[in-house]
Amino acid sequence: AVSIENVSKWYGNFQVLRDVNLHVATGERIVVCGPSGSGKSTLIRCVNQLEKHQRGRIVVNGTELRPGTKGLPAIRREVGMVFQQFNLFPHLNVIDNCTLALVRARKLARNAAEAVAMENLTRVRIPEQAKKFPAQLSGGQQQRVAIARALCMKPKIMLFDEPTSALDPEMIKEVLDVMTRLADEGMTMICVTHEMGFAREVADRVIFMDGGEIVEQANPAEFFSNPVQVRTRQFLSQLL
Ligand code: ATP
Ligand code: MG
Repeated sequence: AVSIENVSKWYGNFQVLRDVNLHVATGERIVVCGPSGSGKSTLIRCVNQLEKHQRGRIVVNGTELRPGTKGLPAIRREVGMVFQQFNLFPHLNVIDNCTLALVRARKLARNAAEAVAMENLTRVRIPEQAKKFPAQLSGGQQQRVAIARALCMKPKIMLFDEPTSALDPEMIKEVLDVMTRLADEGMTMICVTHEMGFAREVADRVIFMDGGEIVEQANPAEFFSNPVQVRTRQFLSQLL
């Protein structure tokens, strides 16, 4: 579970998050949407402390995330993250991308790490690409490698930051299918995405952010058919 309580954050004088409150239960699937610059990436980056919040509390599976928190690295390992720009290591092949952290940080033997990697490459349906380098893969395949790499760390929570927005249209579905399957397996997920079909089908709750605050949240049926706030309506009307 993730508990974000009264979280605020500033870049200099600019307040990027304004008193954000969000509780994500274990197994819950959250979609976060909102206009560019509304703070979506900043919010989820705070959940694995790629960014530090300055006010409020973020509690992940019972441990508060603070600089100097004992066990912060351990908590961070429970939170996997997938970015818009895959962020694969270009000089490593697919399987080495997946095993790097297992071998270096988790001190797994190479054989054991490769077994975990192959298991997760199978999970995202590209075991046959294991020996290729990122540049030899399509965008959709690269993103699935990035998902597999995150899954190798056995995360309890997965954060996705617009995982399909750098992809050509024909590759979006293969990535969303993998995410849908993860959701079906019961993974706790916070997904920043504007794929509203995915939100409708998979999300338990849709969060709309604007100007650094959560403006509206509802289950997808309600969110799309009956948005309450003017800003939400404006945003949705621009999407269609
Ligand atoms: P997008 O849909 O374009 O990805 P977003 O909702 O993810 O937008 P953020 O990336 O969280 O928005 O950025 C929120 C605001 O904070 C923006 O106005 C951005 O310019 C600003 N910002 C982000 N990172 C920094 C930084 N490192 N320093 C200063 N300002 C930043
Ligand atoms: Mg963003």
